[in-house]
Amino acid sequence: MSSNKTVLISGGAGYIGSHTAVELINAGYNVVIIDNLSNSEKEAVDGVRKITGKDVVFEIVDTCDKTALRQIFKSYDFDSVIHFAAYKAVGESMAEPLMYYQNNLVSFMNIVEMMKEFNRPNILFSSSATVYGEAENLPVTEQTPRQPATSPYGNTKQIAEDILHDCCRAYEGVHGIALRYFNPIGAHPSALIGELPRGVPNNLVPFITQTAAGIRKELSVFGNDYDTPDGTCLRDYIDVVDLAKAHVAAVNRMTDCKMDAKYEIFNIGTGNPISVLELLTTFESVNNLKLPYKIAARRSGDVPAVWADTSRANEVLGWKAERPLRETLQAAWAWEKNVRNIK
Ligand code: NAD
Repeated sequence: MSSNKTVLISGGAGYIGSHTAVELINAGYNVVIIDNLSNSEKEAVDGVRKITGKDVVFEIVDTCDKTALRQIFKSYDFDSVIHFAAYKAVGESMAEPLMYYQNNLVSFMNIVEMMKEFNRPNILFSSSATVYGEAENLPVTEQTPRQPATSPYGNTKQIAEDILHDCCRAYEGVHGIALRYFNPIGAHPSALIGELPRGVPNNLVPFITQTAAGIRKELSVFGNDYDTPDGTCLRDYIDVVDLAKAHVAAVNRMTDCKMDAKYEIFNIGTGNPISVLELLTTFESVNNLKLPYKIAARRSGDVPAVWADTSRANEVLGWKAERPLRETLQAAWAWEKNVRNIK
């Protein structure tokens, strides 16, 4: 394992970035966090400081601003960058495609350009299981063909993967790993950091916790007539702390020069399909509460089922999802209660 090396984390004040900062620090890395706070609060960085007891460097920077980014590359010495900074709401991307292409692709290209200019070799990119679309065979492996994206958001992930692939092939000094996340959920066990969406949540678990907190009146389960065991969609819910640890394993692989190719892809999930209804009832039982919910019409763009074959990450990264679902859902509720001051 590498220690005392520094990792630049773009979007590090966000949900997955803040958890990853904690796990990197726990593993002996120093981190520099940059974020424009477009979808996060600086308190998340305070949470990282409290959990780790370390004075984390944080700068407010927009990764689309190349001049500001160049200054970061000039000011700090790091070998690896984890690039989380992106917009992530599928529905919003349908309404505002240019905003998504602009932010997600320009920021990504700026980062790769700076890596090339300053000879910083390693980049870890946040990709997504959305690239698989409605796959013919389940679970999906990294070889499963990508399907045409159904949203501008999904398209930015596919295009960025392609850009990274091309840059790793063309530029001697650039090495990249794309992690394809399945459905990240949960919060840090300290309840000091977690998911804090602005406005109406797009993802199921924050919607559940906000409903439990009384902020949302009722939860909608979109479709119970899919060809799945209970009729609701099947997903692979990955605990955010486990996901953060996958980043540490990938950074270790890059910094220890263990990559087999200049560009590698890994699925990061649990490998276990869980239905929406199962998630909801598990949340109720582990937290001892009842949620008001209704069955609503299917939501366009939702695939019936997707879950990961994680053997490549298990074998090559030496990483495996470990946290039981009940603990993940307890942590999600503890975080929501902490944010809302609920006893
Ligand atoms: P998040 O919104 O909590 O974090 C993203 C962070 O990036 C935010 O803090 C935001 O302020 C920042 N940001 C956005 N644009 C920026 C810019 N131009 N300059 C600087 N900072 C900027 O989201 P998250 O859930 O932590 O997701 C992190 C990454 O993982 C994203 O790339 C997302 O697309 C990807 N991803 C997320 C999920 C998920 O369900 N959460 C699933 C698959 C992939």
